[in-house]
Amino acid sequence: MRIALLGAPGSGKGTQAKKLMADRDIPQVSTGDMLREAVAQGTRFGLRAKSVMDSGNLVPNEVVLGIISERLVKKDTKNGFILDGFPRTKQQSLDLENLLEKMGTPLDRVVLMDVDFDILMKRLTGRRTCSLTGKLLNVYFSSQEELDECTNAGGELIYREDDNEDTIRNRLNVYRENTEPLIDLYRDRQKLVTIDAIGSIDEVYERLIGALI
Ligand code: AMP
Repeated sequence: MRIALLGAPGSGKGTQAKKLMADRDIPQVSTGDMLREAVAQGTRFGLRAKSVMDSGNLVPNEVVLGIISERLVKKDTKNGFILDGFPRTKQQSLDLENLLEKMGTPLDRVVLMDVDFDILMKRLTGRRTCSLTGKLLNVYFSSQEELDECTNAGGELIYREDDNEDTIRNRLNVYRENTEPLIDLYRDRQKLVTIDAIGSIDEVYERLIGALI
């Protein structure tokens, strides 16, 4: 199964990709995660990406394409992959198509995760990761028990540097301008399935599984 998750920042792509990965044993390929890793390691790609990511703009295409090309040739993608956060522009969708065509492994489906813009803001400003377990939490939506579980074990609830209000606003604008046009593009190619991504993680996951049948 080779799929791409399409949706605004905060629509839950990462959360659902991780669940699907655990369930189906196919890797989540998140350009955002790989870029953050490159930044943390101070690699050449990372140094170029850091300030752009902090402002909420898109990292240059050749950087992202370099990262994704190296990732998709790894052995663990042989039974499929879940693209999360890529493609994000028309050019990236063309680059992806060329890359996958060369590999003989076209995308099966693109799932659009549909969420109202006002809900996205709360999801993004409240988003935290437990420093001990890496678990994704939200100060507005997670239960107090889940939040305490992290802090009582000595963990911290950390937030991403680009999850502040100004950057979030910019990321949502960047999504509208650059990524939304991909919805029509994949609809025209008959690859698009849309799911309602409002609700609990499990509810959305069920819809996702339903969309992949
Ligand atoms: P994400 O974790 O998917 O929200 O991505 C965080 C940041 O990484 C974005 O705001 C961009 O700066 C950068 N990024 C991630 N994926 C891409 C991509 N496909 N193209 C360009 N920039 C990206």
